Amino acid sequence: MDQKLSIAIQKSGRLYEDSVKLLKDCGIDVKNGINKLKTEADNFPLEIYFLRDDDIPQYVEDGVADIGIVGENVLLEKDKQVLPVEPLGFGKCRLSVAVGRKEEYASPAALQGKRIATSYPVLVKKFLAEKAVSAEIHEISGSVEIAPGIGLADAIVDLVSSGSTLFMNGLKEVDVVLRSQAVLIRNTRLTADKLTLLDRLLFRIRSVKKAKNNKYVLLNAPNDKLQQIISLLPGMKSPTVLPLAEPGWSSVHSVISEDQFWDIIEQLKAAGAQGILVVPIEKMII
Ligand code: ATP
Ligand code: ZN
Repeated sequence: MDQKLSIAIQKSGRLYEDSVKLLKDCGIDVKNGINKLKTEADNFPLEIYFLRDDDIPQYVEDGVADIGIVGENVLLEKDKQVLPVEPLGFGKCRLSVAVGRKEEYASPAALQGKRIATSYPVLVKKFLAEKAVSAEIHEISGSVEIAPGIGLADAIVDLVSSGSTLFMNGLKEVDVVLRSQAVLIRNTRLTADKLTLLDRLLFRIRSVKKAKNNKYVLLNAPNDKLQQIISLLPGMKSPTVLPLAEPGWSSVHSVISEDQFWDIIEQLKAAGAQGILVVPIEKMII
């Protein structure tokens, strides 16, 4: 098989570093892409294109790149013929409605007849239609948050993560149009060879994602509490139990998922576990 898979990632911006890191965590070396359009991985048949995020859905639809990493916000706004393959857990943000800090907004009906500035006209139009509200949409490509201050709009719909940009511009977030994260997308007509490569890459991506959501836990337990402690641990199969040099004690190793983590740690302590070590997992293959 000598075909290569090509992936489009953002050239610079909020998705760039996490996209490159994901590939690195998958064991794929990406040489520095700054000021380059294209590079190749040494150790996986992958070409990497660096593009503006807005252009990625089109390039993937056209098959210039086989796959791409883009925010769901861009994917849904551009509405191209591409397939979403896997949410990636980074680039999390909200596409939100914001109005002046002193404005009232009880529901989307407050937008009736208003002027809304946004870079996401398609998603805003859909949102307004769903809420049966009619408003004027003003499409602007950057610095949407200054539009109300200069009298260009009454409200905006823009991406928000912490809300500090809104705050600095005298605005407040009042409604969420879409919750978004980065997603892997693919062209609809990949060859069988390319699909095989994509499967190999996806296997790695899923292992990295799983590892991030789990921690490896090691602890010491007095043997008379062992059964109770083991019953608290989920583990991939059952936990590993090894005798300690000190008689009457064992070392217990297991895997705990991030969302159960603090609960279980508290219960383990209460059950008599000591010397609890929590270690990040690099890859998790199941
Ligand atoms: P480009 O030059 O590639 O067009 P851009 O200015 O459109 O860059 P960025 O601001 O780098 O894009 O954002 C890229 C993506 O990162 C967004 O489309 C979104 O999916 C995600 N993102 C995550 N958090 C935020 C945020 N707080 N503000 C904007 N985008 C965010
Ligand atoms: Zn962009």
